Amino acid sequence: MTEAHIPTQLGPGSPQASQVSHSAATKAEPLLELRGIRAAYGTIEVLHGVDLSVEAGTVVALLGPNGAGKSTTLQVACGLMKPSSGSVLLAGRDVTGVKAEDLARCGVTTIPEGKGIFPNLTVRENLLMATYSGVSMRQVEAVAYERFTRLKERRSQLAGTLSGGEQQMLAMARGLAVEPAVLLLDELSMGLAPLVVEELYGIVGQIAKSGTSILVVEQFARTVLGVADVAAIMVNGLVRRVGTPDEIEQELSAAYLGG
Ligand code: ATP
Repeated sequence: MTEAHIPTQLGPGSPQASQVSHSAATKAEPLLELRGIRAAYGTIEVLHGVDLSVEAGTVVALLGPNGAGKSTTLQVACGLMKPSSGSVLLAGRDVTGVKAEDLARCGVTTIPEGKGIFPNLTVRENLLMATYSGVSMRQVEAVAYERFTRLKERRSQLAGTLSGGEQQMLAMARGLAVEPAVLLLDELSMGLAPLVVEELYGIVGQIAKSGTSILVVEQFARTVLGVADVAAIMVNGLVRRVGTPDEIEQELSAAYLGG
């Protein structure tokens, strides 16, 4: 895989992105597609042929129990982990093995489990990190504070002193500053109160409406199903079922939903 195969810029604000979205919509070509992904930690294979598609402008929820392989799937999708076989396609182009930083430049942004923020830096300093991509701080702050007004009030506060929900907002704000085409979210709800999770998923829904495609991983599903267009269930390193959120909600076992 060479750089020449990488789409140059797929952010929703870019002309290329709208072309991609349009062609994806007309040809029903997924914006992000995993085909037959196998991946291993050392000699232990944990993904055994994962197939998953994210159509342009949609939210896909990838659900499943602890250890099913959801985070590993995201790691492969964002280029942090190289699959042992299978393909990752971005807007129809093979980007298998392309490094995370190159995929990030093409519009694939990931917000990892644990959020990846710097607790000893202020909100503003954390946002400053997003300017590495060439976006001005003014633009980064404008995008962040428009969507997350609470961050504006707290811009001089150390990130580590924010509530869990606000920290997640900060991580999302930083990721969204570059106007990604695809946003990969890992366990947004982890450690957060149900009301906060609901608020965050409300924001995820708005982000999707503004044109960003989202693949979100969760163990506990109810809230994410409310904003998802498609839901998939992963068990033991394979996507076992893909359906509408309603279908999947009915089919999920009580163990997954904790209910
Ligand atoms: P969780 O909800 O707990 O994050 P998950 O569905 O995201 O679970 P993964 O984190 O992808 O699952 O883990 C899939 C399998 O890979 C598990 O058996 C896990 O123990 C193993 N695994 C994950 N990370 C590593 C690692 N860095 N080294 C070795 N094995 C790992």
